[in-house]
Amino acid sequence: MRIQTIKGPVKPEQLGTTYTHEHLICYPPVIAMKEDYDFELPQEEKAIEELEYFKEAGGSCLVEGTAIDYGRDVEAMGRIAEAVDVHIVFTTGFNKGRFHPDWSIKMDADALADLMAREIMEGVAGTGLKPGIIKGGSWYNVILPKEEKVIRAVGRAHKKTGAPIWMHTEAGTMGLEQLDILEEEGVDLNRVALGHLDRNPDLWYHKKIAARGAYLGYDCPGKIKYGPDSDRVNLIKEILDAGYEKQLLISGDMGRRSYLTSYGGGPGFSFLLNKFIPRLLDEGLEEKEIDQIWVKNPAAYLSF
Ligand SMILES: [Zn+2]
Repeated sequence: MRIQTIKGPVKPEQLGTTYTHEHLICYPPVIAMKEDYDFELPQEEKAIEELEYFKEAGGSCLVEGTAIDYGRDVEAMGRIAEAVDVHIVFTTGFNKGRFHPDWSIKMDADALADLMAREIMEGVAGTGLKPGIIKGGSWYNVILPKEEKVIRAVGRAHKKTGAPIWMHTEAGTMGLEQLDILEEEGVDLNRVALGHLDRNPDLWYHKKIAARGAYLGYDCPGKIKYGPDSDRVNLIKEILDAGYEKQLLISGDMGRRSYLTSYGGGPGFSFLLNKFIPRLLDEGLEEKEIDQIWVKNPAAYLSF
C-alpha cells in the first residue's frame, strides 16, 4: 500500500493532514474562461506561496484535482513540488463533458482507460511524473454520453491500476447515477469519492451515497455564496451521527484566483485549518473526529 505523490510513493502513515481537492496551476478551456477569467491559475510562485500558508497552518499533503482537459501543467507541478515541503498528489482523467477536447471525444472508453492507466503506471508522457488519482465527471442533472464513456474508462483504468477515483459532480447532482455506472464496471465503491456534494446539502441523498460505500467529498467551507457555513457544520454533524465518519473528505477547492491569499483574495488554503476546524471543535466535534476526516480518511482513500 502506498500513496502515489508526484515525487514518488509515500506510506499512508506519513501523509499527515490532507486536502483532497484543490488546484495549484490550471489553464481552463475557452468555454470556462468565457464564463470567468478568475478560474485561470497561471503563476507558479503564487502556488508556492499558497502552499507555504498551507504548510504553516499544519498542512502536509494536497491533492491537485486539475484534470487533463482543464489545462493541467504537470511540469509546473513538478517544479512546485520541488520548491515546497508538501506532498502533492496529481490527477489523470477528465472533467465534465463541456471541457472534453475533440481528441478525447473521438477516443473510445478502452483507449481512454489505457491512456489514464499508462499515466499512472509509467508517468505522463515526457515527464515521468505519475498521477495518483483518476477523475471523471458529469453535468448538471444529466450524464451526457461522452461523460458516461469517460466514467466507464475511469472504472477500467482503476481496475488496471488500483488508483482511487474522484468524480466531479455539477452542483452535487448525479452522484448515485455515477456510482451505478462505476458499479457496472466492477469498481468497489469504497475506492470512489464524489466531489462538490455539499453544493447539494441533502442529507438523505448523502446517506444513500455513503451506504453504498463511497466517500462524501465536501469542498465548499468558506464559500458563503453557496450558503452559510452553519449548514455545512450541521451536515457534517449529521453524517458523523449516522456513523459515516470514515467516509468524509473535506477540502476547499480554492480553484479561483479570488479564493487564494497569494493572488490577493480569500479565504485561501489556510482557512480550513485556521478557521473552519477550530469552529467545528467549538461546535462540539472532537479532535479524534478532525484527525479521522483530515488525516486517516485521506490516507485510506489515496492508498493503492
Ligand atoms: Zn476543483
